[in-house]
Amino acid sequence: MNVQFPSSVGIGKPFVLRVTSSEPLTGVEVVWQGSVVQLGVSVWNDRYIALGLLGTHVGKAKTGDHRLTLRLLAGGKRSEHPFSIKITPVQYKEDRLTLPEGMVTPPPSALKRIEAERKLTGAALATMTAERRWGLPIVRPVPGIVTSPYGRRRILNGKPRSPHGGVDFRAATGTPVLSALSGYVVLTGDHYYAGKSVYIDSGGGVIAHYFHMDTADVKQGDFVKAGQVVGKSGVTGRATGPHLHFGLALSGQMVDPEPLFSATVAQMLEKTALRKIIPKWK
Ligand SMILES: [Zn+2]
Repeated sequence: MNVQFPSSVGIGKPFVLRVTSSEPLTGVEVVWQGSVVQLGVSVWNDRYIALGLLGTHVGKAKTGDHRLTLRLLAGGKRSEHPFSIKITPVQYKEDRLTLPEGMVTPPPSALKRIEAERKLTGAALATMTAERRWGLPIVRPVPGIVTSPYGRRRILNGKPRSPHGGVDFRAATGTPVLSALSGYVVLTGDHYYAGKSVYIDSGGGVIAHYFHMDTADVKQGDFVKAGQVVGKSGVTGRATGPHLHFGLALSGQMVDPEPLFSATVAQMLEKTALRKIIPKWK
């Protein structure tokens, strides 16, 4: 039985964890950044395999050594294994934007709505289903170039804001938006900041979202395959021009999705050590 994951990862960057076992496993849990991540187990070549996609939010996590605890589950018993990952600094750029004051500081009349939407989107991002529906590489949602990458610190009208939690793609209004990963739609809405938006759960705490769309063409409960159209891009919500904001939350941590547009699981696990696990079932 072994586990693979990188020993160090840049802050904000996603990483893959793989557990491989010749003994039966019914589930795997990973305790990471204060969340319990549930990973489904699949059987392949007589081996039990669990894959996790994890990361840190550049605006919330700290660099340095972080504890990662692996819990193996089998027939009502569990075996717990602590590990450590080093989160290393990454230089993200800075954006200075000037927006209508009403969009930077919302009017008091909008605060109730914003708070209600924050609860809804917070619950959607915290969705945890074990069955893995994601695969790598993920699909690029629109063909346009990246106009604002993940992690850019935004100075809005001279006031520093939290770093950009997703990737902005150039996309003319009406451009079909493709789902980057397979999964179930857990939330759609027309929100104050995000405009018309769609949230999709791909299992193992992997939730993708698509903002500022002109139309959302899926509804809550729908299953979408990677590459399927979920809506048309637009300029709804807090947006200065037509574009698609694509965000990827990994167990609640907004990460940089860009490395995942080209990397396979094998490439994400390149140069990672195989760490042997000797379970102590309790
Ligand atoms: Zn954005």
